[in-house]
Amino acid sequence: MSLQVLKPRVRGFICITSHPEGCAAHVREQIAHVKSRPALKGGPKSVLVIGASTGYGLSSRIAAAFGSGAATLGIFFERNGEGDKAGSPGWYNTTGFHAEAKKAGLTAISLNGDAFSAELKAQVIEAIKSKMPGGKVDLIIYSLASPRRTAPDGVTYKSTLKPTGAPFHAKNLDTDRKVVNDVTLDTANAEEIAHTVKVMGGEDWELWMNALDGAGVIKEGCQTVAYSYIGPQVTWPIYKDGTIGKAKEDLERASRKIDDLMKLHRGRAFVSVNKAVVTQASSAIPVVPLYVSLLFKIMKAKGNHEGCIEQIQRLFEKQMYNDNALDFDDNGRVRIDDLEMLPEIQKAVFDIWPLVTTETFDQYGDFAGYQSDFLKNFGFGLAGVDYDAPTEVERPIENV
Ligand code: NAD
Repeated sequence: MSLQVLKPRVRGFICITSHPEGCAAHVREQIAHVKSRPALKGGPKSVLVIGASTGYGLSSRIAAAFGSGAATLGIFFERNGEGDKAGSPGWYNTTGFHAEAKKAGLTAISLNGDAFSAELKAQVIEAIKSKMPGGKVDLIIYSLASPRRTAPDGVTYKSTLKPTGAPFHAKNLDTDRKVVNDVTLDTANAEEIAHTVKVMGGEDWELWMNALDGAGVIKEGCQTVAYSYIGPQVTWPIYKDGTIGKAKEDLERASRKIDDLMKLHRGRAFVSVNKAVVTQASSAIPVVPLYVSLLFKIMKAKGNHEGCIEQIQRLFEKQMYNDNALDFDDNGRVRIDDLEMLPEIQKAVFDIWPLVTTETFDQYGDFAGYQSDFLKNFGFGLAGVDYDAPTEVERPIENV
């Protein structure tokens, strides 16, 4: 037992505290969105989510469980609270998710560990065989975002966020001080590019799929999807054409190879390009928080703004299930970033980009929206949560 009063303590692009009840309330908000939509027709029933505790992976788990009654097996790398220290938000999101799954009579199994390791892959296969419906899975979501990976060769590779062409000078938002400043990002060398591809590319997704296939736990008709991002021209030097973009190209290469494997199971593999949202991963990318603040204001004014849960609900509802066919772009990707990439939205961002300064930022940017989403990711700012009351920081995850 360790009762603590927990308040946000923000350090740059991370908050070093998180709130268990707040995270649970954030999960319930997402469940409410899914329940406000009709149940999925032909939806998944036995789902593995790799990277299930925060961001797009958590929303995928919630949409599958509460939109389709799926049993979910969630994999993540998180930390329980201990002593006077709060746990990580992904831990508390998961305790909140399990509590709601239990109430709804849904199977929820979680494994905390290194998804890149062979040990965790073996544990997952064992858990699928012994605990998931029919001992197989019919949907596999690959939603990892990690700064490093220890690969099967024993080497720990680190990812970097750098341009691969010329050094990049750009506007940036210091989210701590609400200051629009300039950043210069040096060009990555060949090793930095290769290492980023090792961490965030498709090799580990392929290892997962080969392991699951070899163990006979892929159900006939199973789908697997990994998430990607493209975004606007103003971020291309750091994103699409940067080290991370090279990794995402490799993810698409892997998707085509995995699709060949999945065809043997009458299934498919694909990459879904998702919209820019505020997550732990995206907050760490230079330039992106500034773009996101401008984008949110424009999309909210147009009435087509979405967060993680709205995006994934739409992916399931309008593309993957309900008798729909996947709508691929010319490169074989599904685009649920379609609203973000609408010409009028991108033109609006492009037009105001040169005008944004610290002084004009409030006029053009939705800083309140950015900050509120950022804090919610750590369980702060949720309605109905008493943030002055002491709360238990050590919370077990009980499989149900
Ligand atoms: P996130 O940081 O919210 O989630 C990352 C997940 O990976 C967490 O569940 C974390 O526990 C897990 N994880 C990290 N390292 C792990 C490890 N070694 N072992 C097990 N689990 C581990 O990230 P996110 O923003 O939701 O990103 C998920 C995917 O979506 C990424 O591929 C990202 O590129 C993509 N995407 C993100 C955005 C965005 O704006 N955030 C937009 C489009 C696509």
